[in-house]
Amino acid sequence: MTQTSQGLFEAIRSIARFIRTSNKVIVLTGAGFSTPSGIPDFRSEGSGLWTRFLPMEVASLSIFRHNPEKFFDWLRPLASHMDNANPNIAHYALTRLEKAGFIQAIVTQNIDGLHTRAGSQNVYEVHGTFNTLTCTGCYHQYKSAEFLDDFINSGKIPHCNDCSRILKPDVILFEEQLPIRIWQKAEAASRECDLMIVAGTSLEVMPSAGLPVKAVDNKARLVIINNTPTYIDVRADIVLYENVADVIPVIADEVLKE
Ligand code: ZN
Repeated sequence: MTQTSQGLFEAIRSIARFIRTSNKVIVLTGAGFSTPSGIPDFRSEGSGLWTRFLPMEVASLSIFRHNPEKFFDWLRPLASHMDNANPNIAHYALTRLEKAGFIQAIVTQNIDGLHTRAGSQNVYEVHGTFNTLTCTGCYHQYKSAEFLDDFINSGKIPHCNDCSRILKPDVILFEEQLPIRIWQKAEAASRECDLMIVAGTSLEVMPSAGLPVKAVDNKARLVIINNTPTYIDVRADIVLYENVADVIPVIADEVLKE
């Protein structure tokens, strides 16, 4: 979008004012929040992760169960990106805002754990996390880090140290239910907030994509910061077609400057 820097700064000041004057601020983040950290959007065409397989065909529970090699082959480049990634300035900006009491929760569709690594406390990972793995036999939970080098470098599929069964990353696959307790918290937070900031997501994956509707139906303000349009831009108070790393740190500075 063409936008004068004057117009952009005015919008940033307005968003900062919204944040300062709201009682309960929720941020909903997606793949665009982690692309500045070097993690490609695995759902988007051209990411390099999409071209070999359709995610729906490999990142599914049935493929994991019946053809785990194919599943882990698909996961390997993504795991490698996540292993190399660090939180970016937008992650840290949200952490600063949360610490200062201006953000009550972050709802994320990302599985990379970068919000938590940046120090954010109240994070609802509605699509699960790649940081841990769970045994499909005895349900023992492991840190992914323990298996990551072998998996990335020698292709070794992770197995349980106790019962030798295969380990499943704690990410929500296609055909799988969202983690119910986390999802209910995310839904409640969306209904109860008076400002929702959608950042770095095109809102294409249901049911997370429906959370902003719950917020605006309850008269919350809606701010959208994303590179590309979303279906709910028409109901937003402010829409910025910008990269999160370019504007969120500036917004945080503006909120925290006084
Ligand atoms: Zn086990």
